[in-house]
Amino acid sequence: MAMISMRDVVKEYPSAKRGGDPIRAVDGVSLDINPGDIFGVIGYSGAGKSTLVRLINALEPSTSGVIEVDGTDITQLSESRLQKVRTDIGMIFQQFNLFNSRNVAANVAFPLNVANYPKENRAARVKELLDFVGLADKARAYPDQLSGGQKQRVGIARALSTSPKILLADESTSALDPQTTSDVLDLLERVNRELGVTIVVITHEMDVIKRIASHVAVMEKGKVVEQGEVFDIFSKP
Ligand code: ADP
Ligand code: ADP
Repeated sequence: MAMISMRDVVKEYPSAKRGGDPIRAVDGVSLDINPGDIFGVIGYSGAGKSTLVRLINALEPSTSGVIEVDGTDITQLSESRLQKVRTDIGMIFQQFNLFNSRNVAANVAFPLNVANYPKENRAARVKELLDFVGLADKARAYPDQLSGGQKQRVGIARALSTSPKILLADESTSALDPQTTSDVLDLLERVNRELGVTIVVITHEMDVIKRIASHVAVMEKGKVVEQGEVFDIFSKP
């Protein structure tokens, strides 16, 4: 069974003009992402990649179609059941989205607090996560004392805190230089291999997909125009 399965998914936004046609940000997308996969979604700006991510995370309702996450159709769920599904999904972002007024440990602990993770175990969990991403010595540092790559490692630790099955990485290396990008991609591979987390990498950079993804969907104007194994798709003339 697929970890994420989409069938004929459409997402329309109302037109900015009164009486104008709606904007089809996602236009009939079907795809399957297998458990344990690193799946890339590539496309130019405006192709609909971020919208797709927000649909998988149920941050926005779809207009039509079926979206299954780990076997559950999330398009039909109540808000309280959706919150449960969201604990299975971690997210990391281009601009890291850390709380700048809180130190690294507090950032990583944040989802644990929200999820009512047992209070007495939170400190140990944060330490374990910071060890995993190689930032044990930065627990008391603040985000603006960190490099971009370190910030993204904090983002990854935070996203993994509640042990999600899926990690959505939305342009997560686009603000980083090549060496730092490479380090972050190495870490994502470890997350996949050692923790068994299914990873969806959204990017406009082909090199990122070639480097870590095994499967890829190519998006243009809201549609998936190609989908398959990275090797097959990118070796076509
Ligand atoms: P990408 O992530 O590939 O750059 P997006 O999903 O952000 O693409 O955008 C796809 C299309 O949907 C674009 O035309 C964009 O302008 C439009 N869009 C995205 N979000 C909204 C929104 N909240 N309201 C209206 N239009 C939107
Ligand atoms: P390499 O020889 O470079 O280690 P692999 O044959 O291990 O390559 O991996 C092939 C592709 O599968 C790569 O894109 C890699 O990122 C991805 N991959 C590696 N390990 C796993 C895993 N445990 N689960 C899913 N995909 C993986």
